[in-house]
Amino acid sequence: MEKKNPCIVAVPTPGLSHLIPLVEFAKRLLLLPHNKDLHVKLLIPTLGPPSSSMKSILNNSLPPNTSFTILPQINVQDLTDAKSQQPSVQMQQTVKHSLPFIHQELTSLIISTNHNLVAILFSLFSTDVLDLAKEFNLKSYLFYASGATLFSFCLHFPQLDQEADNSTSKSLLELTHPVHVPGCGVPFQVKDLPDPTLFDRSSEVYKSFLDVVSKYSLVDGVIVNTFTDLEPDAVRALQQEEHNRRKSNDPFVYPIGPIIQTETSSEVNRLECLTWLDNQSPKSVLYISFGSGGTVSQEQLNEIAFGLEMSGHKFLWVVRAPNSYGGSAYLNEQKDDPLQYLPSGFVDRTKGQGLVVPSWAPQIEILAHGSTGGFLSHCGWNSTLESVSHGVPVIAWPLFAEQRMNAVLLKDVLRVAVRAEANEDDGIVRREEVCRVVKRIMEESEQVLEMRKRIKELSDDAAAALTENGSSMKALSSLSLKWQSTI
Ligand code: UDP
Repeated sequence: MEKKNPCIVAVPTPGLSHLIPLVEFAKRLLLLPHNKDLHVKLLIPTLGPPSSSMKSILNNSLPPNTSFTILPQINVQDLTDAKSQQPSVQMQQTVKHSLPFIHQELTSLIISTNHNLVAILFSLFSTDVLDLAKEFNLKSYLFYASGATLFSFCLHFPQLDQEADNSTSKSLLELTHPVHVPGCGVPFQVKDLPDPTLFDRSSEVYKSFLDVVSKYSLVDGVIVNTFTDLEPDAVRALQQEEHNRRKSNDPFVYPIGPIIQTETSSEVNRLECLTWLDNQSPKSVLYISFGSGGTVSQEQLNEIAFGLEMSGHKFLWVVRAPNSYGGSAYLNEQKDDPLQYLPSGFVDRTKGQGLVVPSWAPQIEILAHGSTGGFLSHCGWNSTLESVSHGVPVIAWPLFAEQRMNAVLLKDVLRVAVRAEANEDDGIVRREEVCRVVKRIMEESEQVLEMRKRIKELSDDAAAALTENGSSMKALSSLSLKWQSTI
């Protein structure tokens, strides 16, 4: 009989920040010596047409033995709750609408002569794929591109919902006490919890989130993009709890991170940024980016511009067209030129001080560059891991999703960030506050030196976790040997 090669199918949640870590995960997996014959097949649900950055990643940075299919595009008007701008709902519904196409792909893979499907991986909001895993009798793994603290929160979220139910709260915002997440020493204010959990409990957004996270405990294992030294207590708490619940010695949680890009997967604005950085002094530049789709309002954009100007510090700013909803560009590519929204004369006035680029920059290379000394970040998990891995202290400026929890982790648990405080009345961070936090992170003080020292230690721990005998490589190896043994 013809020998079939083992194959893993992976279904990312729509959005670049879900695709990037999954591609990086595939690279690591396929580098393991016992995985020479392994094939990784990405089945990619998309909302609207695939973006140019996504195409660039798929065409330029997939490792050998990896293939992909972009599933037929889902359109916003096809979604059940077409009005919802919430990325979490849009992502979950996009995957739901893509299930028939995933079914078709799985069927062809199973009847193909050269593949032996060993497991299906899906990310964050793709849990509806679990039904297909059951139907096709495949081992199911959640690829959790965020951290262990957030995963621990999600796993316990149904319990928190029950608590709110008992106290008949319409929304979790009515809870008067902070929320304790197992394995996290610092309690979270309710307002810092992930966006979908703060909607009315009867809303589609809340119910969709509850539905997604309730399925987390049903998978065979969870691959978490963290490393044990970054979130030791959260990892320990998860392992212990699941060990007790499942009465099995098989690990449930595999902390295999930090999985971050090793090279820039898109050429957009690359040369301009890196050439400019080459001409700056060591640690003198503040890099400003709100992730793959974060946006701020026009008023906030102005305040950032004036605050940067006032600070006098060098900056490299990835500017996106303003929108009052922080995640507006997340799943929709912007067509407008964002630089036209900057205050009049700003670019000319700051010519010697800063560089502004529209929409996208080679973040990983910017963070790795010796001229970069600080990162004003929306605290998406990838950006969090990237700043930790490159030892760059952070100005935490969370916008949406779970970013406020990541900001708490960076500032209060790891103590490698300062947080920009918004005005209580209108939620705007004023230019004076922008100037204050920029100076705090860019000017050498005892506090900043402490912060730099701590983040350097974390950066060393991150590198150690990825060495041959490091904690993350061991976890990855044990998982993949388990997959190989199922053939
Ligand atoms: N990114 C980039 N250039 C940009 C903006 C983002 O390379 O101009 C990358 C960044 O390095 C990270 C990802 O896109 O890997 C953003 O992921 P994150 O989880 O930080 O934020 P999200 O996009 O999910 O809000």
